[in-house]
Amino acid sequence: MNVPFNDLKREYLSIKQEIDAAIREVIDNTAFIKGKYLNKFEEEFAAYCNTRYAVGASSGTTALHLAMEGFGIGKGDEVITVSHTFIGTTEPISHAGADITFIDIDPKTYTMNPSLIEALITSKTKAIVVVHLYGQMADMEAILKIARKHDLIVIEDAAQAVGARFNGNGPGFYGNAACFSFYPGKNLGAYGDGGAVVTSDEAAAMKMKMLADHGRLSKYLHDTEGYNYRLDSLQAAVLGVKLKYIDEWNGKRREVASFYNEHLKDLDMVLPEVAHNAEHIYHIYCVQVKDREFIQKRLKEKGVSSGIHYPVPLHLQPAYAHMNLGRGSLPETEQCVDLIMSLPIFPFITADELEHTAATLHGILRP
Ligand SMILES: *Cc1c(COP(=O)(O)O)cnc(C)c1O
Repeated sequence: MNVPFNDLKREYLSIKQEIDAAIREVIDNTAFIKGKYLNKFEEEFAAYCNTRYAVGASSGTTALHLAMEGFGIGKGDEVITVSHTFIGTTEPISHAGADITFIDIDPKTYTMNPSLIEALITSKTKAIVVVHLYGQMADMEAILKIARKHDLIVIEDAAQAVGARFNGNGPGFYGNAACFSFYPGKNLGAYGDGGAVVTSDEAAAMKMKMLADHGRLSKYLHDTEGYNYRLDSLQAAVLGVKLKYIDEWNGKRREVASFYNEHLKDLDMVLPEVAHNAEHIYHIYCVQVKDREFIQKRLKEKGVSSGIHYPVPLHLQPAYAHMNLGRGSLPETEQCVDLIMSLPIFPFITADELEHTAATLHGILRP
């Protein structure tokens, strides 16, 4: 039996008629850029996030770049963020002209360890980019307390966390803004690249909307140079359909996680830990194992896909070699990256596939 890591085809087939009709409508109206389909999705997504505004973007990375510039983060500023994430978190910090300060994680939740923030704050520190990795929100109340005390902007990288909660509140509630990716493999995925920033700050929202569309709010007047970072209408239409299902699909992901939690608990494997006040939406189901290479190879022989998110932390990437952060600079991050492994999880995975995955893991770890 083959167990894919994700299968977007099954999801599409479950809502094919609605998706096809939504795409056809955009094409019939040849309304590909801006206009009613984008506006409608932005309104619906802001409502879903309980924020006043949503600004569509061409990807999660460009959404984060809009947030950097929208909140005036740039040259001479330092931004604290994690190294245990995808490079799309940090590229926008550099592209905005600011400097990255890497911080270590809480090894239980894999998210930013708030108790390490204050030691990293300097007179140049302007913002914190918090990553809600794997679908679990970081400890936003602890982080916000420190941010308020030091007058720092908080941007949430919620690329993996549509629908996640912390004390009942979603991304966008605590931070000045939250940024999302609609890359096809994310929980809320478009049929191509896409992203969005949500915020309740009106001035920042208008600035980000302007920057995303060549620095203009009207057709022929450019207040500044901006970017072409728009979310296109076909993607907005697809996302509008899928947004109606996201809570149901996140619920299915939680059921899959419960299955793994129950069936893998006796194995020599560290299972995901959820903070008592967090609601995880399991974009990734990440475990820690001792002999990862061997286990992944055996899983593959039995048709079970697995992944590593992410094998090389950003501070040890060639792209950041100039920061001279060698091994030992972020011990918790470095310790977990050699052990982590992600198991197949998606709303349409079948009971047979889950049984096969669990049985295969038992066969490998308890032969
Ligand atoms: C996917 C992702 C991004 C980047 O999103 P893109 O849409 O691929 O540009 C940024 N941060 C995290 C944590 C991600 O998972």
